[in-house]
Amino acid sequence: MPSKRVVIVGGGFAGYEAARALLKIVSRTGDDIEVVLVNPTDYFLYLPLLPEVAAAVLDPRRVTVSLPATLPGVRLALGTVHAIDLESRKVAYTDPEGAERSLDYDRLVLAAGSVNKLLPIQGVSEHAHGFRGVPEALYLRDHIVRQIELATAADDQAERDARCTFVVVGAGYTGTEVAAQGPVFTAAIAGRHPELAGQKIRWMLLDVAPRVLPELDKRLSRAADRVLRERGVEVRMGDTVEEATGEGVRLKSGGFVANRTLVWCVGVRPDPLVENTGLPTQKGRLVTEPTLVVPGHPEVFACGDAAAVPDLTRPGQATAMTAQHATRQGKLAGHNVYASLTGGQLRPYKHHDLGFVVDLGRGEAAANPLRIPLAGFPARVVTRGYHLMAMPGNRVRTAVDWALDFLLGRQSVQLGLVRGPHVPLDTDSPELPRVTGK
Ligand SMILES: Cc1cc2nc3c(=O)[nH]c(=O)nc-3n(C[C@H](O)[C@H](O)[C@H](O)COP(=O)(O)OP(=O)(O)OC[C@H]3O[C@@H](n4cnc5c(N)ncnc54)[C@H](O)[C@@H]3O)c2cc1C
Repeated sequence: MPSKRVVIVGGGFAGYEAARALLKIVSRTGDDIEVVLVNPTDYFLYLPLLPEVAAAVLDPRRVTVSLPATLPGVRLALGTVHAIDLESRKVAYTDPEGAERSLDYDRLVLAAGSVNKLLPIQGVSEHAHGFRGVPEALYLRDHIVRQIELATAADDQAERDARCTFVVVGAGYTGTEVAAQGPVFTAAIAGRHPELAGQKIRWMLLDVAPRVLPELDKRLSRAADRVLRERGVEVRMGDTVEEATGEGVRLKSGGFVANRTLVWCVGVRPDPLVENTGLPTQKGRLVTEPTLVVPGHPEVFACGDAAAVPDLTRPGQATAMTAQHATRQGKLAGHNVYASLTGGQLRPYKHHDLGFVVDLGRGEAAANPLRIPLAGFPARVVTRGYHLMAMPGNRVRTAVDWALDFLLGRQSVQLGLVRGPHVPLDTDSPELPRVTGK
């Protein structure tokens, strides 16, 4: 077979697995297929453990798995794709130093994932912390430590209270995990400051939904709700933030909560790269056939959060935006891309949900592997075992960090990352890209 090039945009769950699957096939068959992975970073980010980075349980390097080290044979093109010419089969990208580059492709896999969902709520983009990448998790960690340390020096009780009040908006898995890990982390930091003895440290979790983890099994929701309340988190469902300021937040239910920390975990939307393709989208995600092929473009595949892949187990619906689907779709994309290049049979995507795990920190978790509801220690074992299996690297280091956290407690110094009083919400969002052609 003459030399072919497959370009994969995005090295997250879907793109990483697509590259890995293709690499495996090509190293077996010896076909002359070049696999190029375009990604802004040289690592795959294991997002589900990001709350543990913000809570200082894990070193940030644990959740970043090196692409060159774990995908030998795949060419990494460091950069952000900003234009796709579907007619001439070319992607244009900008490298981290601003240089413009382009790549021709025979097959394209769009796996650019999702970004923070910004709602038009006054003050949120200026005053809230987002939660999508390593920089944001580290900013948040630094910010939390700084608030507690500044609270020790505050003579004014109102200022102390505000600095010791943490508001998380969004009770999906990210917000729930952050709100559950948060009190454990702040208690550890405050415990080192005798000046804060007796000071109430307040964590609040808000969501317009009627229950935490609204998209998951009710039993998981109940288990998480119990743990949150036991840790003193004020769980306020049916409520949200109407305005954020540098001094605090105004709630929909009325009242103003003076605080300095607003963590915004209100879901995600597909990466802006898909927006201007002119290709059909469903709720912002690229419409695909069950084979992950973009209709009308047999050379383009899409998978993961960026794609509305039909869920054959729930007719009429698209697969949920989860790591489980993205991983499996990525694997299938690798197989189907190869099949499309070699005249093979493309397979449809069909996957039954295997359950979900939610790590709540300090010996607690909620999980429903194979729909068996678990809470407490058994859930914790399943959750951590699942993460170790699902991570494509860094497993031993991650397990060692967990053991060290158990034995030695948290490290809680500021790394000096946060210079101003606030971090803009979209720290990690790329600029809106351009896509041309059909
Ligand atoms: C904090 C957090 C916790 C989560 N926890 C869980 C969990 O516990 N369980 C679960 O199932 N799901 C969880 N999710 C959701 C899960 O991580 C996503 O569903 C999954 O990451 C989707 O995989 P993906 O490959 O589509 O996108 P991603 O993993 O987001 O990867 C997309 C990749 O594309 C890159 N990219 C984006 N734009 C471009 C561009 N223009 N050019 C080149 N590259 C680009 C990005 O940098 C990234 O590397 C969590 C999400 C977050 C944010």
